[in-house]
Amino acid sequence: MTKDRKLIIAGNWKMNKSVAEASDLVTTLKRDLANVKEVDLVVCPPFTALSDVSRVILDSNIRLGAQNMSEHGNGAYTGEISAQMLKEFSVRYVILGHSERRQYQAESDELISRKAHAAHAAALKPIVCIGETLEQRESGQMEAVLATQLKGSLAGLSHQQMEETVLAYEPVWAIGTGKTATTEQAQSAHAFIRGVLATLFDETVARRVRIQYGGSVKANNARELMEQPDVDGALVGGAALEARSFTEIVTNSI
Ligand code: PEP
Repeated sequence: MTKDRKLIIAGNWKMNKSVAEASDLVTTLKRDLANVKEVDLVVCPPFTALSDVSRVILDSNIRLGAQNMSEHGNGAYTGEISAQMLKEFSVRYVILGHSERRQYQAESDELISRKAHAAHAAALKPIVCIGETLEQRESGQMEAVLATQLKGSLAGLSHQQMEETVLAYEPVWAIGTGKTATTEQAQSAHAFIRGVLATLFDETVARRVRIQYGGSVKANNARELMEQPDVDGALVGGAALEARSFTEIVTNSI
């Protein structure tokens, strides 16, 4: 399958894996995905495993991502991790505004935008997550919710910064539930998001930004999702925790 935009598939390991388990998983991925050139591959382990995973993937085609970071530089922010700290482990990507952080840590669009600016200032590529709840979808607010999240989370980014930002459309009702959006639901949300990007930035930016789909992506639904014209990859949770399922998602997507 050919698309102008290179697919990007990222595994979000969330709060899972000991350091030893993380090293084992990424060692297997490195071996099994060594020949993949068509897709940008990213793994996002917990902070505690960044150092070891970073060492394993040195000189491989797998890039390192973090699951969150502080909006601030170094300083008196107990418990936080700065962009510069992530850079020490050769982190390239950082997930921002995941729905679990929006829900449990009350992260707002404004905060996510400040984090996105901090990430770009440190030359980290943000993966900015957006998505509606089931209630919002069923009450006809999906487009308004996505537009508000995009406007707020991406506020003030330059055109170039936006082109280097990855978006992840993750309908909250599909995360960790086994319910995947249908290909039509995914494509129509992605096309809508691209339309909003054209309004907020311009057509060129909108055409270049990669939009991942996330929400119960598995080996058996990856191909049809990736075939959609506006779907440029996947953010994978549960199925990224095992080498075999993540590898199959990648190989089925090519
Ligand atoms: C996620 O948390 O980003 C995610 C998409 O999870 P899952 O694949 O388990 O639905």
